[in-house]
Amino acid sequence: MLKRAVILRLIVGTFFILAAFSYAFYDFFTHRPSSIERVLPPLPNIPDDQICKEGAIKSDEEKGPYDLTLTITKGDTLLSILVDAQIDKKQAHEIIALLKKHFDPTSLKPQHEIYLTYIKDEETPGNRLVESLYFRPVIDKEYWISLDKNGKFVFEKNDIKLNKITREARGKINDSLYADAGKQGVPTKILHQMIQAFSYDVDFQRSFQPGDEFGLLYDMRADEDGVREEAGELLYATLSLKNKKLHLYNFKLKNGAQGFYNQHGESVKKGLLRTPIDGARISSRFCKNRKHPILGYTRAHKGIDFAAPMGTPIMASGDGVVARASPYAGYGNYIRIKHNKEFSTAYAHLSRFAKGLRAGKSVKQGQIIGYVGSTGSATGPHLHYELIRHNIQIDPASVKMMPAAKLAGKELQDFKSIKDLINRQYHELYLAKMAQTEMSSDTEEEEDEDEAREIFITETPADESP
Ligand SMILES: [Zn+2]
Repeated sequence: MLKRAVILRLIVGTFFILAAFSYAFYDFFTHRPSSIERVLPPLPNIPDDQICKEGAIKSDEEKGPYDLTLTITKGDTLLSILVDAQIDKKQAHEIIALLKKHFDPTSLKPQHEIYLTYIKDEETPGNRLVESLYFRPVIDKEYWISLDKNGKFVFEKNDIKLNKITREARGKINDSLYADAGKQGVPTKILHQMIQAFSYDVDFQRSFQPGDEFGLLYDMRADEDGVREEAGELLYATLSLKNKKLHLYNFKLKNGAQGFYNQHGESVKKGLLRTPIDGARISSRFCKNRKHPILGYTRAHKGIDFAAPMGTPIMASGDGVVARASPYAGYGNYIRIKHNKEFSTAYAHLSRFAKGLRAGKSVKQGQIIGYVGSTGSATGPHLHYELIRHNIQIDPASVKMMPAAKLAGKELQDFKSIKDLINRQYHELYLAKMAQTEMSSDTEEEEDEDEAREIFITETPADESP
């Protein structure tokens, strides 16, 4: 009996043990794993210290492909950067040889990035085999090198379509234009254009006072993904100074020349007057060799002579600062005006200077600076006029730097429609920005402010008449 009881107990015990196992078994297979558990492949049964060792797992996932971004730093060559990234040396040389046929690798500059896809070389551990390589040294071009199905590298170049984005910025000048406009994200290149355009009217070293304001409308060029963008052109700039408000509009002439014009269509580049004297006739032109009428020997005539009655008023041919107003050897009474870094003009043989005119005084285009005479070595009353570029006299007739100061006719009409378009954009972008600011302060959400003050223009250049 005892024997039977033991056997029975064993059977019951076994039953319970089996039941327990079955439940565990059941639970193991029916327990719903979390979504992450289901997605992840099971971990291989490898001791922890081996998991991190290269080559410990020889699965396809380990082989790659992998993405790698290489950033060029100063002193890098394409070869050095590929070798440093453990790219197979033979491949690196092949890639460079191929690239050199289409692109100068030395034009890769610091900060440029190269995007690589590679797989691990199973034969040579630590070696990486390139599958493709891509870079974009300029915003609108991308270069690809990739393996074709025969295992040879092929080169491909793609043009990237860019969109024009127009942006607006405005604010007070508290510190400097660079600092205050820069804070709003205006690129330095755009500010350069603005300062250059205003340099004829504004002295950026000292013109600003508290309360002065700036405004800008400008283009950016951006790719469709909005990943990269670069400064385009300044379209409009305004400065509200204490006693004047200045506006400049970018306008392209029929002949392709681009310039900035004020609201009246007057060029900011104040051209020099061709004739700084009224009603005079040219009595002697600029020439490199000429027999001097008094001294008899041959020498160059480095100016233009205008014959005019004694006392005829002489005008400054452009805005500038008087560099000299005094007798000057054979020139007699002589005035020299510096117009900008490049150009000066000189006026000789004057009978007298205009009242108050002396070195250091500013003069305006057309302002009377003196009167015709025959002081110095002159045979009769005339104005000897010189155009000086970087301290060398040049023939004023040879220089095309004297554009029509004001647009006229059809061009003025075109300018007016561009001006209206620009004014409208400048206003609308501002309203959009204000609406955006209000909205984000209502919802207290941080929105990308730039979004609101952009107008996307595809294909059509902004400077074409609508
Ligand atoms: Zn002369």
